[in-house]
Amino acid sequence: MKKHNFSAGPSILPQEVLKKTAEAVINFNHLNLSLIEISHRSKEFIDVMENARSLVKELLNLPEGYSVLFLQGGASLEFLMTPYNLLKINGKAAYIDTGAWSTKAIKEAKLLGEINVVASSKDKTYNYIPKNYTIPTAIDYVHCTSNNTIYGTQIKEFPKTDALLVCDMSSDIFSRKLDFTQFDLVYAGAQKNMGPAGTTLVIVKDEILGKTGRNIPSMLDFQVHISKDSMFNTPPVFAVYTSMLTLEWLKNLGGIAAIEKRNEKKATLLYDEIDRNSHFKGFAAKEDRSLMNVTFNLTNEADKETFDKLWNDAGISGLKGHRSVGGYRASIYNAMPIESVQVLVSTMQQLEKQIG
Ligand code: PMP
Repeated sequence: MKKHNFSAGPSILPQEVLKKTAEAVINFNHLNLSLIEISHRSKEFIDVMENARSLVKELLNLPEGYSVLFLQGGASLEFLMTPYNLLKINGKAAYIDTGAWSTKAIKEAKLLGEINVVASSKDKTYNYIPKNYTIPTAIDYVHCTSNNTIYGTQIKEFPKTDALLVCDMSSDIFSRKLDFTQFDLVYAGAQKNMGPAGTTLVIVKDEILGKTGRNIPSMLDFQVHISKDSMFNTPPVFAVYTSMLTLEWLKNLGGIAAIEKRNEKKATLLYDEIDRNSHFKGFAAKEDRSLMNVTFNLTNEADKETFDKLWNDAGISGLKGHRSVGGYRASIYNAMPIESVQVLVSTMQQLEKQIG
């Protein structure tokens, strides 16, 4: 029996995607060759790259003027590529600090210029999204993290600014309807809602590039990757192919509008139980709760052994909270079926019955 996989990332992918990927690793497109032993310059792989790119544009409803890239180095390399490509020499950028990943993005950006942390929720272990902050004028860009994987908070309203808006969407891309025209640069590691680790999706507005006055190393230069259709060097063929399959799966399901409804249903089911069941308490501020990562704690730590046994026996995996927050984190990404969330809710109800 397959486990109910609540892992925060790498995380659950649709079963049919895993099966098709496994087939392609043995015999890709009836070529009698593996996906991972053919040239990335072959027509077959170029078709994969083109299809993946156009699925991203279609699913996210991207207008003309945006490029879609599949790069390597994870979202972590984008922490550095962002300032390299957008921060002018002697320029400034504003960052919103909503957790460990924002903090890492800030650290890298500081290597290249003056970084203004305009808001932070560090004072409460990042259990909320800061609001009502002022973004200074005369900055090159504002950086935010849409979903905070560790703490289970999610931005519902993005900063309004005349500067460029950059967003790390690693843990909630493709999960909800958003107007992408408000963003100038979006990046996301694949390993949550898109595919295996190994590729990073970058969506960038072409007209913002080439304006920093910097000498950018080729591998860090978005314009180089755009000019080579994400094949400046050998692309991560396995990760791109699997991502393409997940995007096809999402399209067949009805796209972002359909998955958003499902995601809301799953999250409501779980948050309602957390709020109803006196043995649990939610970690994140209610109005900022994430639809992707549901963080919660036991009211009484002494129940830990009993609850851990209940969910382990129910075939649940990956529920342990991040070490900085403790407790539990149920990651309920796009591919997570509602039936698995129901199993988790049942174990929470069993705890209540056992303890009273
Ligand atoms: N940003 C966020 C929001 C993340 O959740 C993660 C990883 N879980 C990262 C950045 C770092 O991504 P990567 O491991 O692909 O570098």
